[in-house]
Amino acid sequence: MNSLAATSRNFRQAARILGLDSKLEKSLLIPFREIKVECSIPRDDGSLASFVGFRVQHDNARGPMKGGIRYHPEVDLDEVNALAQLMTWKTAVVDIPYGGAKGGIGCSPRDLTKSELERLTRVFTQKIHDLIGTHTDVPAPDMGTNAQVSHIYYSFRTKQRNCKSFGNILCFLISKLSFTGGMVQQTMAWILDEYSKFHGHSPAVVTGKPIDLGGSLGREAATGRGVVFATDALLGEYGKSIQGLTFAIQGFGNVGSWAAKLIHESGGKIVAIGDVSGTIRNPNGLDIHQLLKHKAEGGVLKDFTGGDAMDPDELLVHECDVLIPCALGGVLHRENAASVKAKYIIEAANHPTDPEADEILSKKGVVVLPDIYANAGGVTVSYFEWVQNIQGFMWHEEKVNLELKRYMKTAFGNIKDMCMSHGCNLRMGAFTLGVSRVARTTLLRGWEA
Ligand code: GLU
Repeated sequence: MNSLAATSRNFRQAARILGLDSKLEKSLLIPFREIKVECSIPRDDGSLASFVGFRVQHDNARGPMKGGIRYHPEVDLDEVNALAQLMTWKTAVVDIPYGGAKGGIGCSPRDLTKSELERLTRVFTQKIHDLIGTHTDVPAPDMGTNAQVSHIYYSFRTKQRNCKSFGNILCFLISKLSFTGGMVQQTMAWILDEYSKFHGHSPAVVTGKPIDLGGSLGREAATGRGVVFATDALLGEYGKSIQGLTFAIQGFGNVGSWAAKLIHESGGKIVAIGDVSGTIRNPNGLDIHQLLKHKAEGGVLKDFTGGDAMDPDELLVHECDVLIPCALGGVLHRENAASVKAKYIIEAANHPTDPEADEILSKKGVVVLPDIYANAGGVTVSYFEWVQNIQGFMWHEEKVNLELKRYMKTAFGNIKDMCMSHGCNLRMGAFTLGVSRVARTTLLRGWEA
């Protein structure tokens, strides 16, 4: 089942549970606006390359539409539509005053140079600048738009190793810059810069920016940190905690690496982890700090000597207590769901479980913590960033993390209440919570044309 069909199916099920009027149901499902633009750029060798960019603005009943921009070869209108819809329910689940949107460009960022990526991002921004804005639609990073992070980080680290002759102060400054996010997430900086040429300096038009351009402390770690708060909340319900449990994590990008680091620091044992380069395991627990160091020094995950290589397909069915898919959608399906050994699945990726897998897992008694809650930490801190930009006041990182914890905890309690009142699982608890909040504001606004 494709991602749009799966997301819409979950929405319809929630609408039925809530007894929504069928006209309201239809209106909530249809996106507010779908934008499709042609983005042509000259490649570095002078040849022309053409890409298709999308922005789907799903709903704005609760506030400006909000959602990331994804650069990935599989980006198409259906997928962006599904992801935009998920953003509408996600922002409502954590009760931040936003609607939902998502964007993307069908491209392979790994095959583009930094200057080609910059040109592509600027052309895309030129095509959509009139349709986004601080109070209309606020983009953010998503898969592929953080890709420069490790690239830039690595080039700084390389410089750091080579710059002994410049003295330790310069090295210190460079490492500081890379650790505080001074140069990271440049895609958002390009969007801000291009947008500002048309509309004047508008830092709140995009979130996930570099700190120097008005980004928030704690934003880079936020999705992974939110995943850990969500995991904590769920395990607490079962009288368990992260400490002492075993974890398998699919993905070691922004979300997976932060989640892994924080789980490791909380005493969880990560027994398997994988990314595009390969998958490794260690039954005694991988040393995530060493793995991060290995990656920062330019190594790839599969070459890490602290674990043994394993078949990537085995990761999702690996022996563990908690499975955390942090990469692509649709990875749990009818072919592999029955073999899952984990007792808990935390959906750090967007729609990693298709509805058929959901049914199989539920029959097996596996508890699935849904994406629209589990990975909402990123957009929650995006909201804090937007608030700070509008206030013109920067928060301490402790405040960001504390507020994030509070939002995640409250949302979990709200989801549980929905599960209790409707006798449903966590996915439907989260969907009914999100959909009911959006439906309520839609009705309050009224239907008058
Ligand atoms: N792309 C992230 C998500 O799927 C973050 C969106 C945002 O910060 O607006 O939730």
